[in-house]
Amino acid sequence: MSSQTLQHCPCDFCGRDELAFSYLPDGSTRGLKVHVCRYCGLVQSTPRIARTRERHAAAVSGGADWGNVRYGKGFRTGAAMAALSRHADLTGNLALLDVGSNRGSFARAFLEAARGAQLTAVEPDERFAASCAGMPRTELVQARTEHTTFADASFDIVHSCHTIEHLAAPFAALKDHARVLKTNGLLVIDAPNIALIGGEDIVEEWFIDKHLFHFSARTLSRMIEAAGFEIVEQNDPADAINLLFVARKSGAPLETVAADPAESAAAMALMNRYQHTRARNLAALEMVARELEALKPKRVALWGAGRLFDMLVREGGYDPGTLSLLIDVHLKKHMAERHGVALAAPDALNDDTADVVVVMSRGFAEEISAEVRARAPGAEIILYADLLGRARLGRAA
Ligand SMILES: [Zn+2]
Repeated sequence: MSSQTLQHCPCDFCGRDELAFSYLPDGSTRGLKVHVCRYCGLVQSTPRIARTRERHAAAVSGGADWGNVRYGKGFRTGAAMAALSRHADLTGNLALLDVGSNRGSFARAFLEAARGAQLTAVEPDERFAASCAGMPRTELVQARTEHTTFADASFDIVHSCHTIEHLAAPFAALKDHARVLKTNGLLVIDAPNIALIGGEDIVEEWFIDKHLFHFSARTLSRMIEAAGFEIVEQNDPADAINLLFVARKSGAPLETVAADPAESAAAMALMNRYQHTRARNLAALEMVARELEALKPKRVALWGAGRLFDMLVREGGYDPGTLSLLIDVHLKKHMAERHGVALAAPDALNDDTADVVVVMSRGFAEEISAEVRARAPGAEIILYADLLGRARLGRAA
């Protein structure tokens, strides 16, 4: 089969041949194209190449080739456990299927909280086995979730965290989650929220190569319900980063999916806004870079060496050699340096080593700022959002 025939594929949700090309991601190594379904509004990338088993070296990029350092997933364990405890009695003899266990952060927290539970962990990556060796009450199935065949009605709970967006056929996967759940069984599912791309601050490529589906609260909740669930806890509307739903198995999957012209129009408008905002912000990054370089001779520390920092260097032409310190708690576990600057831990700030700390984070700006104030009370704090805002005003003037 040629790659051309794969370009014409039906929508995974409604099954119709209604995919409208919307966007070519920046720096995709897979040649992915983003489409909006004109019928149901689901945003999806094609071609839907199944993920290969080859592993790349740990890398951080602001472009579409990003995704080898999955440091975001462990942060969601607390939210998933809190949601689960609101809807399940964790003291019972529960059987839980953990889809995409990654390094076992959720698995460990669940087994700790649910002392009588059995856990089945599905994870293709052998690093899970390494990090969870000897974990009690656990069966590891080292496979992709699409290749598993569990018996009908064999679990009380299915947990799926930042996995469904990677799958070649997410609707089928959700229907399979319903099939393997017992009557009234619970689904706890978490996925990236496409609402994030509507933000004013976006500079990194959101449509990364590892994600084939890009859900809104509306499209993911409709897909969950159509797969045979009743949603018992909606996503938090204040969270533009994640979509966490809790749903209960309630009946048979729908035979047909209804049209959603309002969602389709909203998705197309969101895609247009994203491309416009991102182009404007990439242009503003040059001014951000000059403002930071002009802080010399002050000693400048930058906290957050991930995708925003990558875009600042690559698109803004920022000279990282002007930094006194580059701090990143999570990336430091995976790599020694970024753009030629050694990565440091937060305690490097303790001994009056910086006059200014630039917080290069959106989601964790408040937490990082609080830690900076505790470790370096005399240091001035500059937030990425403020830098970008000033640069945009400068460009508009
Ligand atoms: Zn569709």
